[in-house]
Amino acid sequence: MTGLGSRLFYKVGKLCEQLPVFLNTFLVFSITGEVSYLVLVGAPLKAEQQKTAWSSWWKALHLLGQYYMLGNICWNAFLFLKVSPSIKGVFLGGNGLGQGWRYCYTCETHTPPRCSHCYDCKVCVLRRDHHCVFFGQCVGFRNYRYFVCCLLFMWLGLLYAMVMNAEVFIVILKEGVTLHSILLLLIPWIMLVSGQVSARAFTFAFIADTCVVGFLLVSAFFFFHLFLLFRGQTTREWYSSRRPYNLGLVNNLRHMLGLRWYICWLSPLIPSPLVGDGINFQVTGSLEPCQ
Ligand SMILES: [Zn+2]
Ligand SMILES: [Zn+2]
Repeated sequence: MTGLGSRLFYKVGKLCEQLPVFLNTFLVFSITGEVSYLVLVGAPLKAEQQKTAWSSWWKALHLLGQYYMLGNICWNAFLFLKVSPSIKGVFLGGNGLGQGWRYCYTCETHTPPRCSHCYDCKVCVLRRDHHCVFFGQCVGFRNYRYFVCCLLFMWLGLLYAMVMNAEVFIVILKEGVTLHSILLLLIPWIMLVSGQVSARAFTFAFIADTCVVGFLLVSAFFFFHLFLLFRGQTTREWYSSRRPYNLGLVNNLRHMLGLRWYICWLSPLIPSPLVGDGINFQVTGSLEPCQ
């Protein structure tokens, strides 16, 4: 019984770890579905309210753009999760006593500079940035490119979805800024449960809200990482006010995104071999925290 209980507990724990990934996937696909519907059907406006009908090629262009962004989000996320940033299977070399090297008592090995142990992944990660709770995976040397590109396309996609959903807000508020319309935008779930709105109105209000909240959240993450990318710094180094590996803008981009840094963000299918080995880094500044 104890064995069964602990196994069940372990399985529930594992499922909870995957929950943010499922939730993100659900939201990304729901938003894309809703925006595709807005393009194809012209909703939420009724036919007589529409000033101009979109031509077929214009609709096709919109759909193409949407699915290009969706494809980039999904493929980058997939590669981000697939490419392990850990030290597992990496030959760290025999010079374990160089500058910046440490000993990890959990992994029982000497680890190179910028590498640190993740207690969620239970392993040391090369050039560790942070553990991403939304994906349940560490961001490190080998998967940084996919992480940043996924953020880029999430940001672009949410910006686009927000513009497309502006009409939803207009339609809701067209009847006047009433308590009903404000509550529908602020607490759509409660309005649905209490039977105040139809499932259709709820879906539009909920997705429009999610776009705005998601956009603000993703913007904060995206611009912060862009800032770090330009500075050649990891989140951990930024926390401890250290910036010893700055190589200048272009070289920072090359080291973080790979040799084809100028084009690789267009698609995760464009190969961009990484510069360096994630073990040895050129020190250009003080390893001590800046004052
Ligand atoms: Zn470790
Ligand atoms: Zn981790």
